[in-house]
Amino acid sequence: MAGSDTKRARDYRRIVAKFGTSLLTAGTDQLDIEAMSALVGQVARLRKRGHEVIVVTSGSIAAGRHRLNAKDAGKEGPSRQVLASVGQSHLMHTYDGLFAEHGLVTAQALLTRRALADREGYLNARNTLLALLDLGAVPVVNENDVVAVEEIEGILIGDNDNLSALVTNLVDADLLVMLTDTGGLHTADPRRDPGAELIDRVERITPEIEALADDAATPHGVGGMITKLEAAKLATAGGADVVIANGHHEGVLERLVAGEVGGTAFPATADRMESRKRWMLSGLSTRGKIVIDAGAAKAVVSQGRSLLPAGVREVAGPFDRGDSVSICSDDGRELAIGVTNYGHEDAAAICGLRSDKIEETLGHEYGAELVHRNNLVLL
Ligand code: GLU
Repeated sequence: MAGSDTKRARDYRRIVAKFGTSLLTAGTDQLDIEAMSALVGQVARLRKRGHEVIVVTSGSIAAGRHRLNAKDAGKEGPSRQVLASVGQSHLMHTYDGLFAEHGLVTAQALLTRRALADREGYLNARNTLLALLDLGAVPVVNENDVVAVEEIEGILIGDNDNLSALVTNLVDADLLVMLTDTGGLHTADPRRDPGAELIDRVERITPEIEALADDAATPHGVGGMITKLEAAKLATAGGADVVIANGHHEGVLERLVAGEVGGTAFPATADRMESRKRWMLSGLSTRGKIVIDAGAAKAVVSQGRSLLPAGVREVAGPFDRGDSVSICSDDGRELAIGVTNYGHEDAAAICGLRSDKIEETLGHEYGAELVHRNNLVLL
Protein backbone atom coordinates (compact mmCIF):
# COMPACT_ATOMS: atom_id res chain seq x y z
CA MET A 1 0.00 0.00 0.00
CA ALA A 2 2.76 2.42 -0.88
CA GLY A 3 3.77 2.95 2.75
CA SER A 4 1.12 5.61 2.97
CA ASP A 5 1.01 5.62 6.76
CA THR A 6 4.59 6.67 6.96
CA LYS A 7 3.86 9.21 4.25
CA ARG A 8 1.05 10.81 6.23
CA ALA A 9 3.37 11.31 9.15
CA ARG A 10 5.91 12.88 6.81
CA ASP A 11 5.89 16.40 5.56
CA TYR A 12 3.80 16.91 2.47
CA ARG A 13 6.06 18.87 0.20
CA ARG A 14 3.74 19.69 -2.69
CA ILE A 15 0.04 20.11 -2.15
CA VAL A 16 -2.92 20.70 -4.44
CA ALA A 17 -5.81 22.45 -2.67
CA LYS A 18 -9.18 22.43 -4.43
CA PHE A 19 -11.78 24.98 -3.38
CA GLY A 20 -15.37 24.41 -4.45
CA THR A 21 -17.89 27.09 -5.36
CA SER A 22 -20.06 26.71 -2.26
CA LEU A 23 -17.00 27.27 -0.11
CA LEU A 24 -15.87 30.38 -1.98
CA THR A 25 -19.33 31.88 -1.92
CA ALA A 26 -20.08 30.68 1.63
CA GLY A 27 -23.36 29.43 0.23
CA THR A 28 -24.39 32.87 -1.11
CA ASP A 29 -24.71 33.95 -4.76
CA GLN A 30 -21.38 35.77 -4.89
CA LEU A 31 -17.73 35.37 -3.88
CA ASP A 32 -17.40 35.77 -0.14
CA ILE A 33 -14.25 37.76 0.59
CA GLU A 34 -14.05 36.64 4.19
CA ALA A 35 -14.26 32.96 3.26
CA MET A 36 -11.72 33.40 0.46
CA SER A 37 -9.41 35.38 2.71
CA ALA A 38 -9.41 32.59 5.30
CA LEU A 39 -8.43 30.03 2.63
CA VAL A 40 -5.78 32.28 1.11
CA GLY A 41 -4.33 32.90 4.58
CA GLN A 42 -3.89 29.18 5.09
CA VAL A 43 -2.20 28.73 1.73
CA ALA A 44 0.10 31.67 2.47
CA ARG A 45 1.12 30.24 5.84
CA LEU A 46 1.84 26.85 4.28
CA ARG A 47 4.00 28.55 1.67
CA LYS A 48 5.92 30.40 4.37
CA ARG A 49 6.58 27.06 6.05
CA GLY A 50 8.15 25.80 2.87
CA HIS A 51 5.29 23.82 1.33
CA GLU A 52 4.48 24.31 -2.32
CA VAL A 53 0.78 24.86 -2.90
CA ILE A 54 -1.24 24.90 -6.09
CA VAL A 55 -4.80 26.13 -5.81
CA VAL A 56 -7.49 24.63 -8.03
CA THR A 57 -10.46 26.92 -7.80
CA SER A 58 -14.05 26.96 -8.90
CA GLY A 59 -16.25 30.01 -8.57
CA SER A 60 -15.91 31.69 -11.97
CA ILE A 61 -19.40 30.75 -13.07
CA ALA A 62 -20.96 31.88 -9.81
CA ALA A 63 -19.00 35.14 -9.92
CA GLY A 64 -20.01 35.76 -13.52
CA ARG A 65 -23.65 35.08 -12.80
CA HIS A 66 -23.60 37.61 -10.00
CA ARG A 67 -21.75 40.26 -11.99
CA LEU A 68 -24.13 39.94 -14.92
CA ASN A 69 -27.07 39.88 -12.59
CA ALA A 70 -28.15 36.68 -14.29
CA LYS A 71 -29.31 34.89 -11.15
CA ASP A 72 -32.80 34.14 -12.30
CA ALA A 73 -32.12 33.80 -16.01
CA GLY A 74 -32.14 29.99 -15.86
CA LYS A 75 -31.69 28.13 -19.14
CA GLU A 76 -32.50 31.23 -21.21
CA GLY A 77 -29.63 33.13 -19.62
CA PRO A 78 -25.98 33.35 -20.59
CA SER A 79 -24.18 30.04 -21.08
CA ARG A 80 -21.69 28.63 -18.60
CA GLN A 81 -18.95 29.68 -20.98
CA VAL A 82 -20.11 33.30 -20.96
CA LEU A 83 -20.59 33.35 -17.19
CA ALA A 84 -17.17 31.81 -16.62
CA SER A 85 -15.54 34.31 -18.95
CA VAL A 86 -16.95 37.23 -16.98
CA GLY A 87 -16.37 35.64 -13.60
CA GLN A 88 -12.86 34.32 -14.10
CA SER A 89 -11.22 37.75 -14.21
CA HIS A 90 -13.12 38.82 -11.12
CA LEU A 91 -12.13 35.60 -9.37
CA MET A 92 -8.46 36.07 -10.25
CA HIS A 93 -8.53 39.72 -9.30
CA THR A 94 -9.86 38.73 -5.89
CA TYR A 95 -7.21 36.05 -5.36
CA ASP A 96 -4.50 38.39 -6.58
CA GLY A 97 -5.46 41.04 -4.03
CA LEU A 98 -5.80 38.58 -1.17
CA PHE A 99 -2.47 36.85 -1.83
CA ALA A 100 -0.74 40.22 -2.26
CA GLU A 101 -1.66 40.99 1.37
CA HIS A 102 0.71 38.14 2.25
CA GLY A 103 3.39 39.31 -0.18
CA LEU A 104 2.63 36.48 -2.61
CA VAL A 105 2.26 36.61 -6.37
CA THR A 106 -0.45 34.57 -8.08
CA ALA A 107 -0.41 33.06 -11.55
CA GLN A 108 -3.47 32.04 -13.52
CA ALA A 109 -3.47 28.72 -15.35
CA LEU A 110 -6.59 27.74 -17.29
CA LEU A 111 -6.44 24.11 -18.31
CA THR A 112 -8.63 21.67 -20.15
CA ARG A 113 -8.70 17.95 -20.00
CA ARG A 114 -8.26 17.78 -23.73
CA ALA A 115 -5.09 19.89 -23.57
CA LEU A 116 -3.71 17.62 -20.85
CA ALA A 117 -4.57 14.46 -22.76
CA ASP A 118 -2.22 15.73 -25.46
CA ARG A 119 1.35 14.79 -24.54
CA GLU A 120 2.80 18.13 -25.60
CA GLY A 121 0.09 20.14 -23.87
CA TYR A 122 0.68 18.06 -20.76
CA LEU A 123 4.41 18.71 -20.74
CA ASN A 124 3.95 22.43 -21.39
CA ALA A 125 1.47 22.76 -18.54
CA ARG A 126 3.73 20.76 -16.24
CA ASN A 127 6.81 22.86 -17.06
CA THR A 128 4.92 26.09 -16.53
CA LEU A 129 3.44 25.07 -13.18
CA LEU A 130 6.78 23.77 -11.90
CA ALA A 131 8.54 26.95 -13.02
CA LEU A 132 5.93 29.05 -11.19
CA LEU A 133 6.45 27.03 -8.00
CA ASP A 134 10.21 27.51 -8.34
CA LEU A 135 9.68 31.25 -8.50
CA GLY A 136 7.59 31.17 -5.34
CA ALA A 137 4.35 32.11 -7.11
CA VAL A 138 1.00 30.53 -6.23
CA PRO A 139 -0.53 28.93 -9.34
CA VAL A 140 -4.30 29.32 -9.34
CA VAL A 141 -5.83 26.80 -11.72
CA ASN A 142 -9.33 26.57 -13.13
CA GLU A 143 -10.77 24.73 -16.05
CA ASN A 144 -10.83 26.85 -19.17
CA ASP A 145 -14.60 26.78 -19.23
CA VAL A 146 -14.82 28.99 -22.29
CA VAL A 147 -13.60 26.11 -24.40
CA ALA A 148 -14.08 23.15 -22.09
CA VAL A 149 -17.73 23.01 -21.17
CA GLU A 150 -19.11 20.90 -23.93
CA GLU A 151 -20.20 17.39 -24.60
CA ILE A 152 -17.44 15.32 -26.09
CA GLU A 153 -18.55 11.89 -27.17
CA GLY A 154 -21.28 11.95 -24.58
CA ILE A 155 -19.03 12.87 -21.69
CA LEU A 156 -19.67 16.14 -19.94
CA ILE A 157 -16.43 17.65 -18.85
CA GLY A 158 -16.22 20.64 -16.62
CA ASP A 159 -15.74 19.44 -13.09
CA ASN A 160 -12.94 20.74 -10.99
CA ASP A 161 -12.69 17.64 -8.80
CA ASN A 162 -11.29 15.62 -11.69
CA LEU A 163 -9.26 18.61 -12.81
CA SER A 164 -7.63 18.82 -9.36
CA ALA A 165 -6.66 15.14 -9.60
CA LEU A 166 -5.18 15.66 -13.05
CA VAL A 167 -3.18 18.60 -11.71
CA THR A 168 -2.01 16.50 -8.73
CA ASN A 169 -0.64 13.90 -11.12
CA LEU A 170 0.68 16.54 -13.48
CA VAL A 171 2.91 18.22 -10.90
CA ASP A 172 3.61 15.05 -8.92
CA ALA A 173 2.04 16.41 -5.72
CA ASP A 174 2.05 14.30 -2.54
CA LEU A 175 -1.32 15.45 -1.28
CA LEU A 176 -4.61 16.54 -2.82
CA VAL A 177 -7.06 18.23 -0.47
CA MET A 178 -10.58 18.74 -1.82
CA LEU A 179 -12.31 21.23 0.41
CA THR A 180 -16.06 21.26 0.30
CA ASP A 181 -18.98 22.17 2.50
CA THR A 182 -19.64 18.65 3.70
CA GLY A 183 -17.17 16.92 5.97
CA GLY A 184 -16.24 14.09 3.60
CA LEU A 185 -17.72 10.73 2.66
CA HIS A 186 -20.53 9.57 4.93
CA THR A 187 -22.34 6.27 5.43
CA ALA A 188 -25.49 8.01 4.08
CA ASP A 189 -26.41 11.47 2.84
CA PRO A 190 -25.83 13.71 5.88
CA ARG A 191 -28.33 16.26 4.57
CA ARG A 192 -31.11 13.70 4.68
CA ASP A 193 -30.07 11.20 7.29
CA PRO A 194 -29.15 12.50 10.76
CA GLY A 195 -27.62 9.11 11.57
CA ALA A 196 -25.05 9.44 8.74
CA GLU A 197 -21.53 8.89 9.96
CA LEU A 198 -18.31 10.23 8.54
CA ILE A 199 -15.94 7.62 7.13
CA ASP A 200 -12.49 8.80 8.14
CA ARG A 201 -10.38 6.53 5.97
CA VAL A 202 -10.91 4.63 2.74
CA GLU A 203 -8.11 2.26 1.77
CA ARG A 204 -9.61 1.37 -1.61
CA ILE A 205 -12.45 2.85 -3.60
CA THR A 206 -14.51 -0.28 -4.10
CA PRO A 207 -17.98 -0.53 -5.71
CA GLU A 208 -19.43 -0.53 -2.16
CA ILE A 209 -17.77 2.80 -1.44
CA GLU A 210 -18.97 4.16 -4.78
CA ALA A 211 -22.50 3.11 -3.87
CA LEU A 212 -22.32 5.31 -0.76
CA ALA A 213 -21.44 8.28 -2.92
CA ASP A 214 -24.37 7.54 -5.14
CA ASP A 215 -26.63 8.09 -2.18
CA ALA A 216 -24.87 11.20 -1.02
CA ALA A 217 -24.40 12.82 -4.43
CA THR A 218 -25.99 15.91 -5.78
CA PRO A 219 -28.39 15.07 -8.62
CA HIS A 220 -25.93 15.32 -11.51
CA GLY A 221 -22.84 14.10 -9.78
CA VAL A 222 -20.81 17.05 -11.09
CA GLY A 223 -19.18 18.56 -8.05
CA GLY A 224 -20.83 15.96 -5.86
CA MET A 225 -19.35 12.99 -4.04
CA ILE A 226 -19.21 10.82 -7.17
CA THR A 227 -16.85 13.14 -8.98
CA LYS A 228 -14.81 13.49 -5.78
CA LEU A 229 -14.38 9.72 -5.61
CA GLU A 230 -13.42 9.59 -9.28
CA ALA A 231 -10.84 12.26 -8.57
CA ALA A 232 -9.59 10.44 -5.47
CA LYS A 233 -9.17 7.28 -7.53
CA LEU A 234 -7.11 9.10 -10.14
CA ALA A 235 -4.85 10.88 -7.69
CA THR A 236 -4.29 7.90 -5.37
CA ALA A 237 -3.49 5.74 -8.42
CA GLY A 238 -0.87 8.35 -9.34
CA GLY A 239 0.76 8.02 -5.89
CA ALA A 240 -0.73 10.94 -3.92
CA ASP A 241 -2.72 10.88 -0.69
CA VAL A 242 -6.15 12.51 -0.95
CA VAL A 243 -8.40 14.08 1.67
CA ILE A 244 -11.95 15.36 1.29
CA ALA A 245 -12.75 17.72 4.15
CA ASN A 246 -14.95 20.55 5.30
CA GLY A 247 -13.39 23.81 4.17
CA HIS A 248 -15.38 25.88 6.64
CA HIS A 249 -13.45 24.43 9.56
CA GLU A 250 -10.85 26.84 10.78
CA GLY A 251 -7.29 26.09 9.70
CA VAL A 252 -8.41 22.83 8.10
CA LEU A 253 -5.87 22.89 5.29
CA GLU A 254 -2.97 23.53 7.63
CA ARG A 255 -4.18 20.86 10.04
CA LEU A 256 -4.51 18.27 7.28
CA VAL A 257 -1.06 19.03 5.96
CA ALA A 258 0.29 18.59 9.50
CA GLY A 259 -1.18 15.07 9.42
CA GLU A 260 -4.13 15.72 11.70
CA VAL A 261 -7.12 13.64 10.80
CA GLY A 262 -10.21 15.36 9.51
CA GLY A 263 -12.63 14.52 6.75
CA THR A 264 -12.13 11.36 4.71
CA ALA A 265 -8.58 10.28 3.89
CA PHE A 266 -7.69 8.12 0.90
CA PRO A 267 -4.10 6.87 1.13
CA ALA A 268 -2.11 6.53 -2.08
CA THR A 269 -2.75 3.17 -3.73
CA ALA A 270 0.43 3.16 -5.78
CA ASP A 271 3.99 4.24 -5.35
CA ARG A 272 5.01 7.30 -7.23
CA MET A 273 4.96 6.34 -10.83
CA GLU A 274 6.96 7.62 -13.71
CA SER A 275 5.67 10.78 -15.30
CA ARG A 276 4.60 9.11 -18.54
CA LYS A 277 2.28 6.78 -16.67
CA ARG A 278 0.79 9.67 -14.74
CA TRP A 279 0.13 11.34 -18.06
CA MET A 280 -1.73 8.24 -19.18
CA LEU A 281 -4.09 8.74 -16.27
CA SER A 282 -4.97 12.13 -17.68
CA GLY A 283 -6.35 10.47 -20.79
CA LEU A 284 -9.11 9.03 -18.66
CA SER A 285 -12.57 9.45 -20.13
CA THR A 286 -11.38 11.38 -23.12
CA ARG A 287 -11.45 8.37 -25.40
CA GLY A 288 -12.92 4.93 -25.64
CA LYS A 289 -13.50 1.96 -23.48
CA ILE A 290 -12.55 -1.71 -23.58
CA VAL A 291 -14.64 -4.16 -21.58
CA ILE A 292 -12.81 -7.32 -20.52
CA ASP A 293 -13.89 -10.67 -19.07
CA ALA A 294 -13.16 -11.94 -15.57
CA GLY A 295 -10.13 -13.97 -16.64
CA ALA A 296 -8.49 -11.01 -18.32
CA ALA A 297 -9.38 -8.79 -15.36
CA LYS A 298 -7.55 -11.17 -13.05
CA ALA A 299 -4.53 -11.35 -15.36
CA VAL A 300 -4.30 -7.57 -15.63
CA VAL A 301 -5.13 -6.59 -12.05
CA SER A 302 -3.63 -9.38 -9.94
CA GLN A 303 -0.94 -10.87 -12.15
CA GLY A 304 0.52 -7.79 -13.79
CA ARG A 305 -0.02 -9.22 -17.27
CA SER A 306 -0.76 -7.52 -20.58
CA LEU A 307 -4.27 -7.31 -22.00
CA LEU A 308 -4.69 -9.70 -24.92
CA PRO A 309 -7.52 -9.52 -27.46
CA ALA A 310 -8.77 -12.91 -26.27
CA GLY A 311 -10.02 -11.44 -23.00
CA VAL A 312 -11.94 -8.59 -24.59
CA ARG A 313 -15.73 -8.62 -24.51
CA GLU A 314 -16.60 -5.30 -26.04
CA VAL A 315 -14.96 -2.28 -27.62
CA ALA A 316 -16.47 1.19 -27.50
CA GLY A 317 -14.72 3.72 -29.71
CA PRO A 318 -13.71 5.92 -31.17
CA PHE A 319 -10.03 5.70 -30.33
CA ASP A 320 -6.84 5.45 -32.32
CA ARG A 321 -3.76 3.33 -31.88
CA GLY A 322 -1.68 5.11 -29.19
CA ASP A 323 -4.66 6.63 -27.33
CA SER A 324 -5.33 6.13 -23.64
CA VAL A 325 -8.43 4.00 -23.18
CA SER A 326 -10.37 3.02 -20.14
CA ILE A 327 -10.34 -0.71 -19.34
CA CYS A 328 -13.46 -1.91 -17.54
CA SER A 329 -14.83 -5.10 -16.09
CA ASP A 330 -18.06 -6.45 -17.52
CA ASP A 331 -19.95 -5.10 -14.50
CA GLY A 332 -18.83 -1.61 -15.49
CA ARG A 333 -15.97 -1.00 -13.05
CA GLU A 334 -13.03 0.95 -14.33
CA LEU A 335 -9.98 -1.23 -13.68
CA ALA A 336 -7.14 0.43 -15.51
CA ILE A 337 -6.06 2.93 -18.11
CA GLY A 338 -3.87 1.79 -20.93
CA VAL A 339 -2.34 2.97 -24.15
CA THR A 340 -3.78 0.78 -26.86
CA ASN A 341 -1.81 -0.83 -29.67
CA TYR A 342 -4.88 -0.99 -31.90
CA GLY A 343 -7.50 1.55 -32.97
CA HIS A 344 -11.13 0.83 -32.16
CA GLU A 345 -12.00 -0.78 -35.49
CA ASP A 346 -9.07 -3.18 -35.34
CA ALA A 347 -9.75 -3.85 -31.66
CA ALA A 348 -13.38 -4.68 -32.38
CA ALA A 349 -12.34 -7.02 -35.21
CA ILE A 350 -9.92 -9.02 -33.02
CA CYS A 351 -12.05 -8.90 -29.87
CA GLY A 352 -12.17 -12.39 -28.31
CA LEU A 353 -9.56 -13.82 -30.69
CA ARG A 354 -6.30 -15.53 -29.87
CA SER A 355 -3.30 -13.32 -30.63
CA ASP A 356 -2.01 -15.68 -33.36
CA LYS A 357 -5.16 -14.83 -35.34
CA ILE A 358 -4.50 -11.07 -35.40
CA GLU A 359 -2.50 -10.94 -38.58
CA GLU A 360 -4.82 -13.16 -40.62
CA THR A 361 -7.86 -11.21 -39.40
CA LEU A 362 -6.53 -7.68 -39.94
CA GLY A 363 -3.86 -8.23 -42.57
CA HIS A 364 -1.39 -6.49 -40.23
CA GLU A 365 -0.34 -6.70 -36.63
CA TYR A 366 1.13 -4.35 -34.04
CA GLY A 367 1.96 -7.00 -31.46
CA ALA A 368 0.18 -9.78 -29.58
CA GLU A 369 -1.10 -7.41 -26.88
CA LEU A 370 -4.02 -5.05 -27.20
CA VAL A 371 -2.46 -3.12 -24.31
CA HIS A 372 1.04 -3.99 -23.17
CA ARG A 373 1.51 -4.18 -19.38
CA ASN A 374 4.19 -1.47 -19.51
CA ASN A 375 1.48 0.82 -20.83
CA LEU A 376 -1.09 -0.01 -18.17
CA VAL A 377 -1.92 1.92 -15.03
CA LEU A 378 -4.18 0.17 -12.53
CA LEU A 379 -6.89 2.20 -10.85
N1 GLU B 1 -14.92 25.65 -13.49
C1 GLU B 1 -16.17 25.97 -12.85
C2 GLU B 1 -16.12 27.36 -12.23
O1 GLU B 1 -15.10 27.94 -12.07
C3 GLU B 1 -16.49 25.00 -11.73
C4 GLU B 1 -16.64 23.57 -12.07
C5 GLU B 1 -16.71 22.73 -10.79
O2 GLU B 1 -16.81 23.30 -9.71
O3 GLU B 1 -16.64 21.52 -10.85
O4 GLU B 1 -17.14 27.91 -11.87
